[in-house]
Amino acid sequence: MIHKKRREELLSILGDDAVIIVSTNSEQKRNSDVNYPFRPDSSFWYLTGFIEPDAIAVFSKNNYSIFLRPKDQTKEIWNGLRLGIDLAPETLLVDQAYDIDSFFDESSSQINESSSVYFDAPTDGGWKDNSSTNKLNPAITALLGEKLKPLNPYISEMRLIKDTSEIKNMQVAADLASKAHIQAMVKTHPGLYEYNIAAEFDSVFRNENSQHSYPPIVAGGENACILHYTENNKLLNDGDLLLIDAGCEILGYASDITRTFPVNGRFSPPQKEIYEIVLDAQKQAIASIMPGEDVNKPHEIVCEIITRGLMKLGIMEDVSNLREFYMHGTGHWLGLDVHDVGTKESGNLFREFQVGMVTTVEPGIYIRKDDKIDPKYWNIGIRIEDDVLVTIDGNHVLSAAAIKNIDDIELLMSHR
Ligand code: MG
Ligand code: ZN
Repeated sequence: MIHKKRREELLSILGDDAVIIVSTNSEQKRNSDVNYPFRPDSSFWYLTGFIEPDAIAVFSKNNYSIFLRPKDQTKEIWNGLRLGIDLAPETLLVDQAYDIDSFFDESSSQINESSSVYFDAPTDGGWKDNSSTNKLNPAITALLGEKLKPLNPYISEMRLIKDTSEIKNMQVAADLASKAHIQAMVKTHPGLYEYNIAAEFDSVFRNENSQHSYPPIVAGGENACILHYTENNKLLNDGDLLLIDAGCEILGYASDITRTFPVNGRFSPPQKEIYEIVLDAQKQAIASIMPGEDVNKPHEIVCEIITRGLMKLGIMEDVSNLREFYMHGTGHWLGLDVHDVGTKESGNLFREFQVGMVTTVEPGIYIRKDDKIDPKYWNIGIRIEDDVLVTIDGNHVLSAAAIKNIDDIELLMSHR
């Protein structure tokens, strides 16, 4: 039902004459006859609720058709059951279902009658014919020429504002990832390897029929200064910090949480100094999030607080050095995708936060070995990331269950 409501909403925005074509992904080969785990295209999933590979939905005010893989006993014995054409109408609430191979024959009249057809190729280019050359995208482009309009701007705008069922799912995703981060704090000890802690996340997520929403970063000591470190194979040393950026995907929705804590359970004084700056910046940035506030406000606050903090410690000489220590943005939209769709700008200006948006807030400080800096700060990399929902009266931190105050972390780790 929710998918029908979304299709109707999209059509009401695009007008009575609009025909919308959305396609999901195909399976991707890993090697020989082994595929990567399949993930549907997010926008296709959002509008149809259908999670098989190789499908195209075409809908307009008066008609909703789906093109999908037909039942095939041999292929189903080897690779799993298919919904098939006969059951599709009652399961997916479509008016007609067809074999995907008849897409161009069956859809062309509906497509040709409309003066505005909205389409964008899915993440991987979409359905491919038997010769494995993607024919959907170029063929639709050739068929429609001028009539073809991009769908992404409209669907991104819709996906940016989460509805009640999405918020419920995102809370589940944030709670599960928070639980895994707490478990990681409890299990971490000097002498273990980064992958031992990564395995805690695998276990917590898999036990809830969930999976990682992106490759996790489990970075001990200096590895935390590599922003997209995913090797996760080094020894965890006494005295180092451990930065973990990991989130799960459950019911289609992603969480994205980062915590940084000491391998031995106690922050050293220099680690504490840097951690407090990041935490203060993060808390003040979150406090600024409310409907009507500029979406760049959290980043402005973070830059100001980190600059002030690092200059006070003598680590940063002047304002222009900030990017040496803080070289990424403060947040991104979160939803079906971990870096979810939606713009931050409207024209040349930053847009405002609206109720139902979900953003991450993830300041960090990364201090590499540098002779100009006091060695006690070398190789400290700290990021703290939460998932924040904009609400009528401000915001709600979905990932609040993952502790982040120094006292709370040290207390929890002292009881291991
Ligand atoms: Mg992250
Ligand atoms: Zn993030």
